[in-house]
Amino acid sequence: MPTQLFIPNFRVDECLEQVRECLEKGWTGLGFKTNEIEQEWKIFTGLKNAHFLSSATVGLHLALEILKRELDWSDENEIITTPLTFVSTNHAIKYANMKPVFADVDEYLCLSPESVEKAITDKTTAVMFVGIGGNTGQYAAIRKLCDKHGLKLILDAAHMAGTRLNNRHVGYDADVTVFSFQAVKNLPTADSGMICFKEMEYDVIARRLSWLGIDKDTYARTANKGAYKWKYDVNEVGYKYHGNSIMAGLALVGLKYLDRDNSYRRQLAAWYRESLKDCKAIKIIPNGPDCESSHHLLQIRVNNRDSILQKLNDAEIYPGVHYSDNTEYKPYKQSAELCPNSRAASNEIISLPMHMGISKNDIVEIAELLKSIVK
Ligand SMILES: *Cc1c(COP(=O)(O)O)cnc(C)c1O
Repeated sequence: MPTQLFIPNFRVDECLEQVRECLEKGWTGLGFKTNEIEQEWKIFTGLKNAHFLSSATVGLHLALEILKRELDWSDENEIITTPLTFVSTNHAIKYANMKPVFADVDEYLCLSPESVEKAITDKTTAVMFVGIGGNTGQYAAIRKLCDKHGLKLILDAAHMAGTRLNNRHVGYDADVTVFSFQAVKNLPTADSGMICFKEMEYDVIARRLSWLGIDKDTYARTANKGAYKWKYDVNEVGYKYHGNSIMAGLALVGLKYLDRDNSYRRQLAAWYRESLKDCKAIKIIPNGPDCESSHHLLQIRVNNRDSILQKLNDAEIYPGVHYSDNTEYKPYKQSAELCPNSRAASNEIISLPMHMGISKNDIVEIAELLKSIVK
């Protein structure tokens, strides 16, 4: 049996039941199940605000756009970010017309507080932290640093559905947190995400901006009856970023099983650690202090990464790489060589297969093979 990096484990009957409800009710769009997933997400995470979107990419854009506008940031302002991420993180800074400034990663593959502090200038307004693989790394130190320098903290939590730090779900102390429920994330739908602002007033703005700038509330309160039901106001050019009820239905089922699935992922990670612990040539990326990781990924670092990947592929084992250093790509090339740890990691990391269909035996086999090829 070939072993893939990731196979989503949909509870098909429950998902179909959710979709059936939407179809029978004749309500597949915004509202209905999107309201329900927002409520359930707030209960699950303890976060105060949650708005369901069509993806995390648009969420990151909205996060930056709203902070920029409400806090009077300009195109000259700089957002400190990581090169070792999915390009969405850094594209979002460009969508909002600000400048990504790259800081380096640490042994957790997350932003290093020392490197972030060095990158701060009088133009810096925020730090974008990515909890790669579900790990929190030195997030707490970055939070302190942001407080010290008066910076906003945006948490790209695309891998962090169900990650807890000091026994609390991540996001409560970030200015805004964005989750992804994309097809290959640990809470998969097809495409959707959640934006969670600390400030309620920003949540209200996010709702308006994610639906083309349409403000229904002015009429909802007074005249949303009878003849004026169709009437709404538009004061600005918003986006079409909100989520829909079909995706929300799938997310509701995924959320029900999220903690159970994540705990199995943590078990898989523990088996990998145990099976690989006597091998000096393989370094397993740690989660970070006080982190109960979603373990969206389990990453290792090796020398000769590409030839090791090739040999694993020959044995029908198909791991992944998260990610190539973004400064290798054209839009970010001018920052190449600023972050040597990230560049080195980018050539050494492998994400091992992690999903509900992997057994302890699979892990023992993968580990034995890995050990035999790294020598
Ligand atoms: C997947 C991912 C995103 C984007 O999520 P989408 O929901 O696909 O837009 C952003 N950041 C990171 C780190 C990701 O892995």
